[in-house]
Amino acid sequence: MTFSSSLISWYEVNKRDLPFRGTKDPYLIWVSEVILQQTRMEQGVTYYLRFIEQFPDIRSLAAASEEEVLKTWQGMGYYSRARNLHASALEIRENFGGKFPATYLQIVKLKGIGDYSAASIASLAFGEPQAAIDGNVYRFITRYFGFRDEVGSASGKKRTREKANSLMDKNQPGIFNQAMIEFGALICTPQKPSCHNCIFNTSCYAFKHKLILKIPVKKKKVFIRKRYLNYLVMTFPERGKPRVILNKRSEEDIWKNLYDFPVIESMVRLSSSGLRKTDEWKRIFHGKKPSVINISEEFRHILSHQVILATFYHISLEEPPEGFDIRLPLDQMNSVPLPRLITRYIQKYFQG
Ligand code: SF4
Repeated sequence: MTFSSSLISWYEVNKRDLPFRGTKDPYLIWVSEVILQQTRMEQGVTYYLRFIEQFPDIRSLAAASEEEVLKTWQGMGYYSRARNLHASALEIRENFGGKFPATYLQIVKLKGIGDYSAASIASLAFGEPQAAIDGNVYRFITRYFGFRDEVGSASGKKRTREKANSLMDKNQPGIFNQAMIEFGALICTPQKPSCHNCIFNTSCYAFKHKLILKIPVKKKKVFIRKRYLNYLVMTFPERGKPRVILNKRSEEDIWKNLYDFPVIESMVRLSSSGLRKTDEWKRIFHGKKPSVINISEEFRHILSHQVILATFYHISLEEPPEGFDIRLPLDQMNSVPLPRLITRYIQKYFQG
């Protein structure tokens, strides 16, 4: 038996039953790939079902506003994925008459679609022999062949892709790719791979040389930046009802186009009196009488290259300060797309 036929036989018996398994619809494959890139499988399946219920095809996704798409994406994090899905749906509508492009080279040019997703879609939906290399496949191949390239390096990507392409069953590239991914996810796992039950253990380099936890070679640690966000949750009465001021994040920073509250960012953790001494506080509340009615605990929110430490100051005002135009009834804060950090705060302090 060849490597590929052994793998595919294993896959046919052991594959997980997933809602997007077996589909040849490129749109559904695309959505599932994008969601699973940075979301755990159990959660990802729930989000996938929610997303395709709302947007069952390219046409419905392209017809939606970006804000609607972000709202449906809420909770999944890494919102650039949602923005890119939407932008690519628009592009497919404009340039491909609403029909998903059918070749790897066309697909890889769409916004937010990298080599892996393009290969996955091209192989599964259109039968094009392109190896899809995600973290699971990278780990499996580098261990099996003993490759020592660092994770994420250009040389590692090239070598692994070439190897996977050479192993691929060209008659069923989609199944081969899925089987590789499934094998990495279920057997050749990051921490405790099931080497003793592995069908490849007699020929696996890392197993033979006791290098399982040394391969793949990890990237050097990246610098994690700490950010202190002091949120101003300003509420005021309008026609007898409380309103809150929100902020739409428009800069090239985390959570672009999502909403949070006006914020004063500091280099260090500030006390309440320290915050009141900042220029921004004085500018915002000049001539006003802000009454701080609650200071939250510090929320810790971890992103890929930064740790956010956020404190929320609930401030009651007679009237809103100048320069803040986005005002919503307090009980409608959830109607706009919000980062997970903000929903955690709202749930704890306004709905808890
Ligand atoms: S023997 Fe272990 S390390 Fe090698 S391919 Fe199998 S599970 Fe992965």
